[in-house]
Parts: sequence; C-alpha cells; structure tokens
Amino acid sequence: MGLNYTIDCCHCGSHTEFRATTNSRTRYVDASHLADNIDTECAIRCPVCRSKLNTSRTDFLRQVKIEVEA
Ligand SMILES: [Zn+2]
Repeated sequence: MGLNYTIDCCHCGSHTEFRATTNSRTRYVDASHLADNIDTECAIRCPVCRSKLNTSRTDFLRQVKIEVEA
C-alpha cells in the first residue's frame, strides 16, 4: 500500500506531490483518521521553503492531503 501526499504550502505557495511507501513509522494510514493522528512535535516540512506544515492540526489539514493507494 502506498500513500500519495499533496502539499499546498501556504508559506511559499508551492504545490508538491510525492509518494511514500507505508512503513512502521507512517502514522497516516487512513485519511479519515488524520485529525486524530497528526503528530505536531515531529516537524513535517515543506520541501521547498522548509516551513513547518504541522504547527497545528488545522494547519496540517489545510496544507497536506493524503490519499491511500490500496
Ligand atoms: Zn513552502
């Protein structure tokens, strides 16, 4: 199973898409549970401007979309 991430950074305006393979460190297995599983201590950063995307759950959900690929 893979995950497709789409990042729309509100800091630099960049649009980035990338794929990740699910592993033991991936906490975002099911997109419907995102709001409960977002880790705001381990920074997820914009690949372009390095701004932290997960300063809060609201910020994360606004900027990052994750699709689960079965
Ligand atoms: Zn950015």
